[in-house]
Amino acid sequence: MTELRGKVAIVTGSTSGIGLGIAEALAGAGADVMLNGFGERGEIDRLREEIAARTGVRLEYSDADMSQPTAIAGLVERTNGELGSVDILVNNAGIQHTAPVHKFPVEKWDAILAINLSAAFHAIRAALPLMLDRNWGRIINVASAHGLVASAKKAAYVAAKHGLVGLTKVVALETAESGITCNAICPGWVLTPLVVKQVENRAQAEGTTFESAKAELLAEKQPSKEFVTPEQLGSLAVFLCSPAAAQIRGQALAVDGGWTAQ
Ligand code: NAD
Repeated sequence: MTELRGKVAIVTGSTSGIGLGIAEALAGAGADVMLNGFGERGEIDRLREEIAARTGVRLEYSDADMSQPTAIAGLVERTNGELGSVDILVNNAGIQHTAPVHKFPVEKWDAILAINLSAAFHAIRAALPLMLDRNWGRIINVASAHGLVASAKKAAYVAAKHGLVGLTKVVALETAESGITCNAICPGWVLTPLVVKQVENRAQAEGTTFESAKAELLAEKQPSKEFVTPEQLGSLAVFLCSPAAAQIRGQALAVDGGWTAQ
């Protein structure tokens, strides 16, 4: 069991999906967690109380908008002030929009680049000095199979995720002689609200049911034909925080049912 008691984690975009799975796993290993993301406040408070009761860790919540650099710096500062440090930073918040490149709405391009890529830069820039002070840290960037290979109609997402993998390598090199590591996790399809929307769009476009659109989506890319789960990604994040992972640096770890092996 990895012991993270006494460590403090920020998980961006952790009110839902993969971020929530990672936040729960880190809390389960003993880390105090700053949750972040959008959602109904009462629901988020219930979630926070439920995880705290189950794990015994401290959980705070920030609604900082990851498209806003000043809000990101504020999130890091607030976490350090309220929870006492920032030892683990999981850059997970992300959005998607699909359209051919020549019809891609400019505001969607800007938003995807801001939230899926620039937010990680701003958060790392703010958190790294705190980690360097203690000579310990774990930076985990949630990229995607789309950080390694491309798909049509995802210009902004693929560009941002490839960029995030590049940023991961640079940060890993700059921290290589320290106790801080930086890696990316590259999931294949995970059945979260972000993907449910894509399955619904597909079912509508093809006049099929949600279930058959879901099966087609998997068959097209993911050889296992099974979704990756937030729990599996949470366990990988906890492993990356363990002493056993201290020399895993600058890697893009695919968890994709074989997608990028093809
Ligand atoms: P999701 O929609 O379930 O969760 C996204 C989270 O990000 C939510 O908590 C949301 O509130 C938050 N968020 C969105 N915009 C934000 C903003 N401006 N500021 C702060 N928070 C914001 O999606 P998910 O599938 O869990 O995706 C999480 C990450 O995993 C994303 O970076 C996504 O690209 C990546 N990913 C997802 C899949 C998949 O199949 N679901 C695959 C590979 C990578």
